Amino acid sequence: MKRRAIIAANWKMNGNLSLVKDMIDGMQELQLNDNVQVVICPSFPYLAAFANFAQTENLQKSIQLGCQNVNENQSGAYTGEVSPDMLKECTVKYVIIGHSERRSLFNESSVLVAKKVATALEAGLTPILCIGESEAERDNAQTNSVLSAQIKPVIDEIGIEKFADVVVAYEPVWAIGTGKTASPEMAQETHQFIRQFLADNNAEIADKVPLLYGGSMNAANCEQLLAQTDIDGGLIGGASLKVDEFKIICSTAKGY
Ligand code: PEP
Repeated sequence: MKRRAIIAANWKMNGNLSLVKDMIDGMQELQLNDNVQVVICPSFPYLAAFANFAQTENLQKSIQLGCQNVNENQSGAYTGEVSPDMLKECTVKYVIIGHSERRSLFNESSVLVAKKVATALEAGLTPILCIGESEAERDNAQTNSVLSAQIKPVIDEIGIEKFADVVVAYEPVWAIGTGKTASPEMAQETHQFIRQFLADNNAEIADKVPLLYGGSMNAANCEQLLAQTDIDGGLIGGASLKVDEFKIICSTAKGY
C-alpha cells in the first residue's frame, strides 16, 4: 500500500507569534514532495494567526493546521475547553489526541482518549492518536501489551473501519524530549507490531493507516527512521521549534 508521509509539528506550550510567522516564511521556501503532508500544531491562541498567514501566503495545501487537544463533548458547560466544531471553524484539520503528557499530567485514560477520537472524527477532524510505552514497560517486555491496551478502547469506541481516517503516532515515552531515540530497527519492529495489531482486526484498513514515529526525531536521525517500511512520518516536538531543522525533516520525507 502506498501511504502519504505526514510530518507533524507538536509545539506543545511553546512558541509565539513570531515563530508562527517564521515558520510560515520558512515553509514558503520549502520544496515538498507531493506525497508529503506537513501539519503544524501550535497552541490554541495561535491557530487563527497561523490560518491567516497560511491563507495570505497561499500555503493552505502544503501546510495543514493541527492542534494538541480537544474536548470529548460537542458543546456545553465545560469551562476552559475547546470543542471539535470550534476547531473545524478555525480551519483545523488534525488534532493530537492522547499525547503521553496529556495521559500522565492530565490523567487522560485510554477510554477518555477513545471518546475524544470519536468526537473529533464526528466533526470531520483527523485524530493523531498517540500511543507509547514507558521505559520501565519496555524494560519489562510489556511494550506490545501496553500498545494494544491503548489502541483497543479506540477500536471498541469507533470500530476498526473508522481507522481509515485516523493517524497513529507511536511515541515511546522514554524518547520524548530526552534526546534518546528508538533505533530505526526498534522503531520499525514496534510499528510493524502496531500495523499487525490493526490488521488482526482489518487488514485492508491497517494497510491505509499512516503510522508516525515520535520521540526526539531531528534533522540528523530522521532519514534512517523515515526509511523504515512501516514508518510513514514523524511527530516532532523540540526540533519543530527550530524552523531550519524542521524544514530538513520535511524535505527528507518522501512518502510513497
Ligand atoms: C512529542 O512531544 O510529541 C515529541 C515527539 O517530542 P520530542 O520530539 O521533543 O521528543
